[in-house]
Amino acid sequence: MTLISEKNEHTACKSANDDHKKSSRLNGRSLEPTKRPSKAQAQEAVRTLIAWAGDDPDREGLRDTPSRVVKAYREFYKGYEEDPIEILSRTFDEVAGYDDMVMLRGIDMYSHCEHHMVPFIGKVHIAYMPCDKVVGISKLARIIDTFSRRLQTQETLTAQIANAVDTGLSSKGTAVMIEAVHQCMSLRGVHKQNVATITTRFTGVFKQDKDIKDRFMRLTKND
Ligand SMILES: [Zn+2]
Repeated sequence: MTLISEKNEHTACKSANDDHKKSSRLNGRSLEPTKRPSKAQAQEAVRTLIAWAGDDPDREGLRDTPSRVVKAYREFYKGYEEDPIEILSRTFDEVAGYDDMVMLRGIDMYSHCEHHMVPFIGKVHIAYMPCDKVVGISKLARIIDTFSRRLQTQETLTAQIANAVDTGLSSKGTAVMIEAVHQCMSLRGVHKQNVATITTRFTGVFKQDKDIKDRFMRLTKND
């Protein structure tokens, strides 16, 4: 992961109020805790899937697998428990007038496709144009985990990250690019290895100003 800052001119700040939508909208859909199955029910479901695969859930090597899988699921999908707007709420305004692009390049991303529940893995490049305040850079990386640790499509993930940064920071614009390899394409279906899927989303100045967008695109290249 590389942090890049560059100097450039840009347009006026947006009004924070215009964009301050409710965090629930940005959070996507998460099931209320009361509607979730119990741990025992989840483990039973894993046993069923093992049998569906054709193996015996009672054989020694698989006996503890349901409890391990259920535990792993809490980690794979912990993003449902997190609020991206809260993560971005702690900002710093003592930045000596710094008002240019802040970019994080090459943040590792692990997610699961919502169609097959198989991993897609890649890198995220993210930039925003601050408006009077900046956020801790580790918080930006955490936002990516919050959304990627859910059942996702790459397109939705890209949009949700950009919208959260846009709204949470009232930035002048956000740019997000994700490059990922989908294991549901390499392990099944068309069986194509190492195809990179690239998605982008630009808002505000990144959308309006071709030079700023071009700078972002140039900086995503690691050479
Ligand atoms: Zn898939």
